[in-house]
Amino acid sequence: MKTLLKGGNLIDENGNVITDTDILIDDGIIADIGKDLTCDGQTVDCTGKFITPGFVSMHAHSPMNIFKGIAEDVNIDDWFNKELWPYESKMTDEDIYRGAKLACAEMINNGITAFADHYFKSDLIARACIETGIKADIAYTVYGFGGDCTRELDRAEKFFLQYRDNRLISPRMGPHSPYICSEDVLRQVIDKAKQLGCGIHIHISETKAQVEQSKADHDGLTPFAVVAKAGGFDVPCIVGHGLWIEPEDLKFIREDTCFAVSPKTYMKLGMYKGGLWDMKDKLNITSGNDGAASSNSNDVLEQMRLFALLGKWNDNAEQFTLKEIWKYMMNGHRFLPFNSGKLKKGYSADLNIFNLSSISCAPVYNPLAAIIYSAQAATDITDVIINGKFVKRNGSLTFDRKEIIDHASRCAKEIYRRGKGVSKLYF
Ligand SMILES: [Zn+2]
Repeated sequence: MKTLLKGGNLIDENGNVITDTDILIDDGIIADIGKDLTCDGQTVDCTGKFITPGFVSMHAHSPMNIFKGIAEDVNIDDWFNKELWPYESKMTDEDIYRGAKLACAEMINNGITAFADHYFKSDLIARACIETGIKADIAYTVYGFGGDCTRELDRAEKFFLQYRDNRLISPRMGPHSPYICSEDVLRQVIDKAKQLGCGIHIHISETKAQVEQSKADHDGLTPFAVVAKAGGFDVPCIVGHGLWIEPEDLKFIREDTCFAVSPKTYMKLGMYKGGLWDMKDKLNITSGNDGAASSNSNDVLEQMRLFALLGKWNDNAEQFTLKEIWKYMMNGHRFLPFNSGKLKKGYSADLNIFNLSSISCAPVYNPLAAIIYSAQAATDITDVIINGKFVKRNGSLTFDRKEIIDHASRCAKEIYRRGKGVSKLYF
């Protein structure tokens, strides 16, 4: 199936604008880019529109979408221990699948064509992704409570072997964090990743308290140092947050280590700004989300807008430029194996089409300014294409949005009725 996107304005991964250009898509791949291209399949008039690579969310907990708005106006400890875990510990397979599917639908609606997830029961998440058509790098979460992770590792390996050749799914190992996993468990999960030839996705230094506790528990080692000691940076590593990275941690960071940042969560849960902003030039910053339980949305445009604004805050307006923020938004593609993120022949056709002639964005002096500071992802991204297929077309998802919302809402009501369960398990 061929599709010709005719006469659009392209914004590449570096934020450069190329006006009035055609993109030919063949079998899910960008087959050609240029002027006056022709096609024997469908032609879509993109005159006046802006076409960009899709967005990526490099840290999510998609099933937790079912808890959007359940825990408000609390600090991070209470958010987790008093408000979230008591319900999360009662989740059924149905809740996980329906929550993940709602997140997939919202992400697609907001122009996210691929995301990196971190949760257990990964097969249910993979099912939600395949049914909605979004790409996902899924880390099977391993906790290793009580120091034993044998069963979790077996499940993670089974998931890896089942999905490693899937066109939409890329599996990896997901040790939860150096504050949940013991050093021995961390090492076992990382060794498994080495054995299977995959990367890891892990939470590190989310709060100042975690850093202090780590130093007290591990002879002065920061959470980054603990992960490094277990070999965590010997493999490709997605760092969830890393908000409280310290200068001494920089020596552990490799080229294939990336940081998924979610400022909306940090601001909402009062986690402070951490050292991340000051060290951004030495890190691979990517857009994250953390899931709608803490961020209340699956919208990386909103997250990176906040990242820029927090960076500029305190007399720093010349920093965190439009092009820099745009590069962070595109950066995640480099750490995912989907051959996406560039408007170039041979790359996967994972694309967003913006209507910037909207009431939010017009008039447009600078399309990057319009997108980063004015656009509403849900409405100004009119079309989303993944593997050459429209998953959002003319402002509407191409699958049944209502059914997904109804099922997730039913699950949310039931889990709320079942009430609070076990609390204070960890954290
Ligand atoms: Zn997280």
